Amino acid sequence: MQIGSYTVELLSEGRFEIFKDGHINRSLNEVSSSSDIENAITQTHLEVGINPVLLQKGDYNILLDTGLGWGLDAGSSYSNISNICTNLAIFELTPEDITHVFLSHLHYDHVAGSSYTDENQQTQPTFPNAQYYVHQKEWEYALSQVDVNSAFYDTNYQLDEFYRLVADGYIHFLTGQTNEIIDGLRIIQTGGHTPGHQIIKIKSDGEIAYFLGDLVPSSTQLNHHKVSTKDTNELDVKREKVHLLNKAYKEEAILLFYHSTFGRAGRLIRDEDKRFILGDIPFKG
Ligand SMILES: [Zn+2]
Repeated sequence: MQIGSYTVELLSEGRFEIFKDGHINRSLNEVSSSSDIENAITQTHLEVGINPVLLQKGDYNILLDTGLGWGLDAGSSYSNISNICTNLAIFELTPEDITHVFLSHLHYDHVAGSSYTDENQQTQPTFPNAQYYVHQKEWEYALSQVDVNSAFYDTNYQLDEFYRLVADGYIHFLTGQTNEIIDGLRIIQTGGHTPGHQIIKIKSDGEIAYFLGDLVPSSTQLNHHKVSTKDTNELDVKREKVHLLNKAYKEEAILLFYHSTFGRAGRLIRDEDKRFILGDIPFKG
């Protein structure tokens, strides 16, 4: 789809089951209906999609989050699996073509595809020519979590490979609440899900889209205000989410959902009970 001068492509690694202890399986179930997914929230696992986004404008090829990275490592047993690189190939792009990577936060289901292990067991950036961006607060919080010797620390951070990218100078740390590295792409720190969590607002030629990261992980959660046990600050999530959805509704913005298995993008409309539902995106000629 097109947002002003940006071409927006929704990538997909497929459907996965995320279990309460943090481990992930590839889902072989039939596609679930919306109500199945809502029921699954109370069950032992949640079925999710993993949907990074590719933005293209002029010489820029930009990724919003990088997925699970299955099959990227040399000698990986996951052959024939969909990952960020197989997705890029569909658009005739190589990993070397990527110029920027914006990371919503550092949970491994959003960043693991940022790096891989080569045949010499060395960690390498998946996108060697890209500048990677993450919020400083996210990095500090992630570090505090991997050091904590407690039953409650956040096991969704797996930083071993990310340390290497930081040491090799690939990662830029953002500060402040809003940053605009590229014209029309605003990176907004929301906190909530994690202290340094950020969303991306794409604004071009009067059109607007939001990449929501895990602030609103999927379109089935538009009207749920307490769904993720992983949120570090549920009150912040609720406040930010309500604020953002109301704003996006007024702006007639397109929303992009990282974890939706269906309904991965659309504009908000309200039903007769004033609940948000996801409308279709009218195609332009
Ligand atoms: Zn996530």
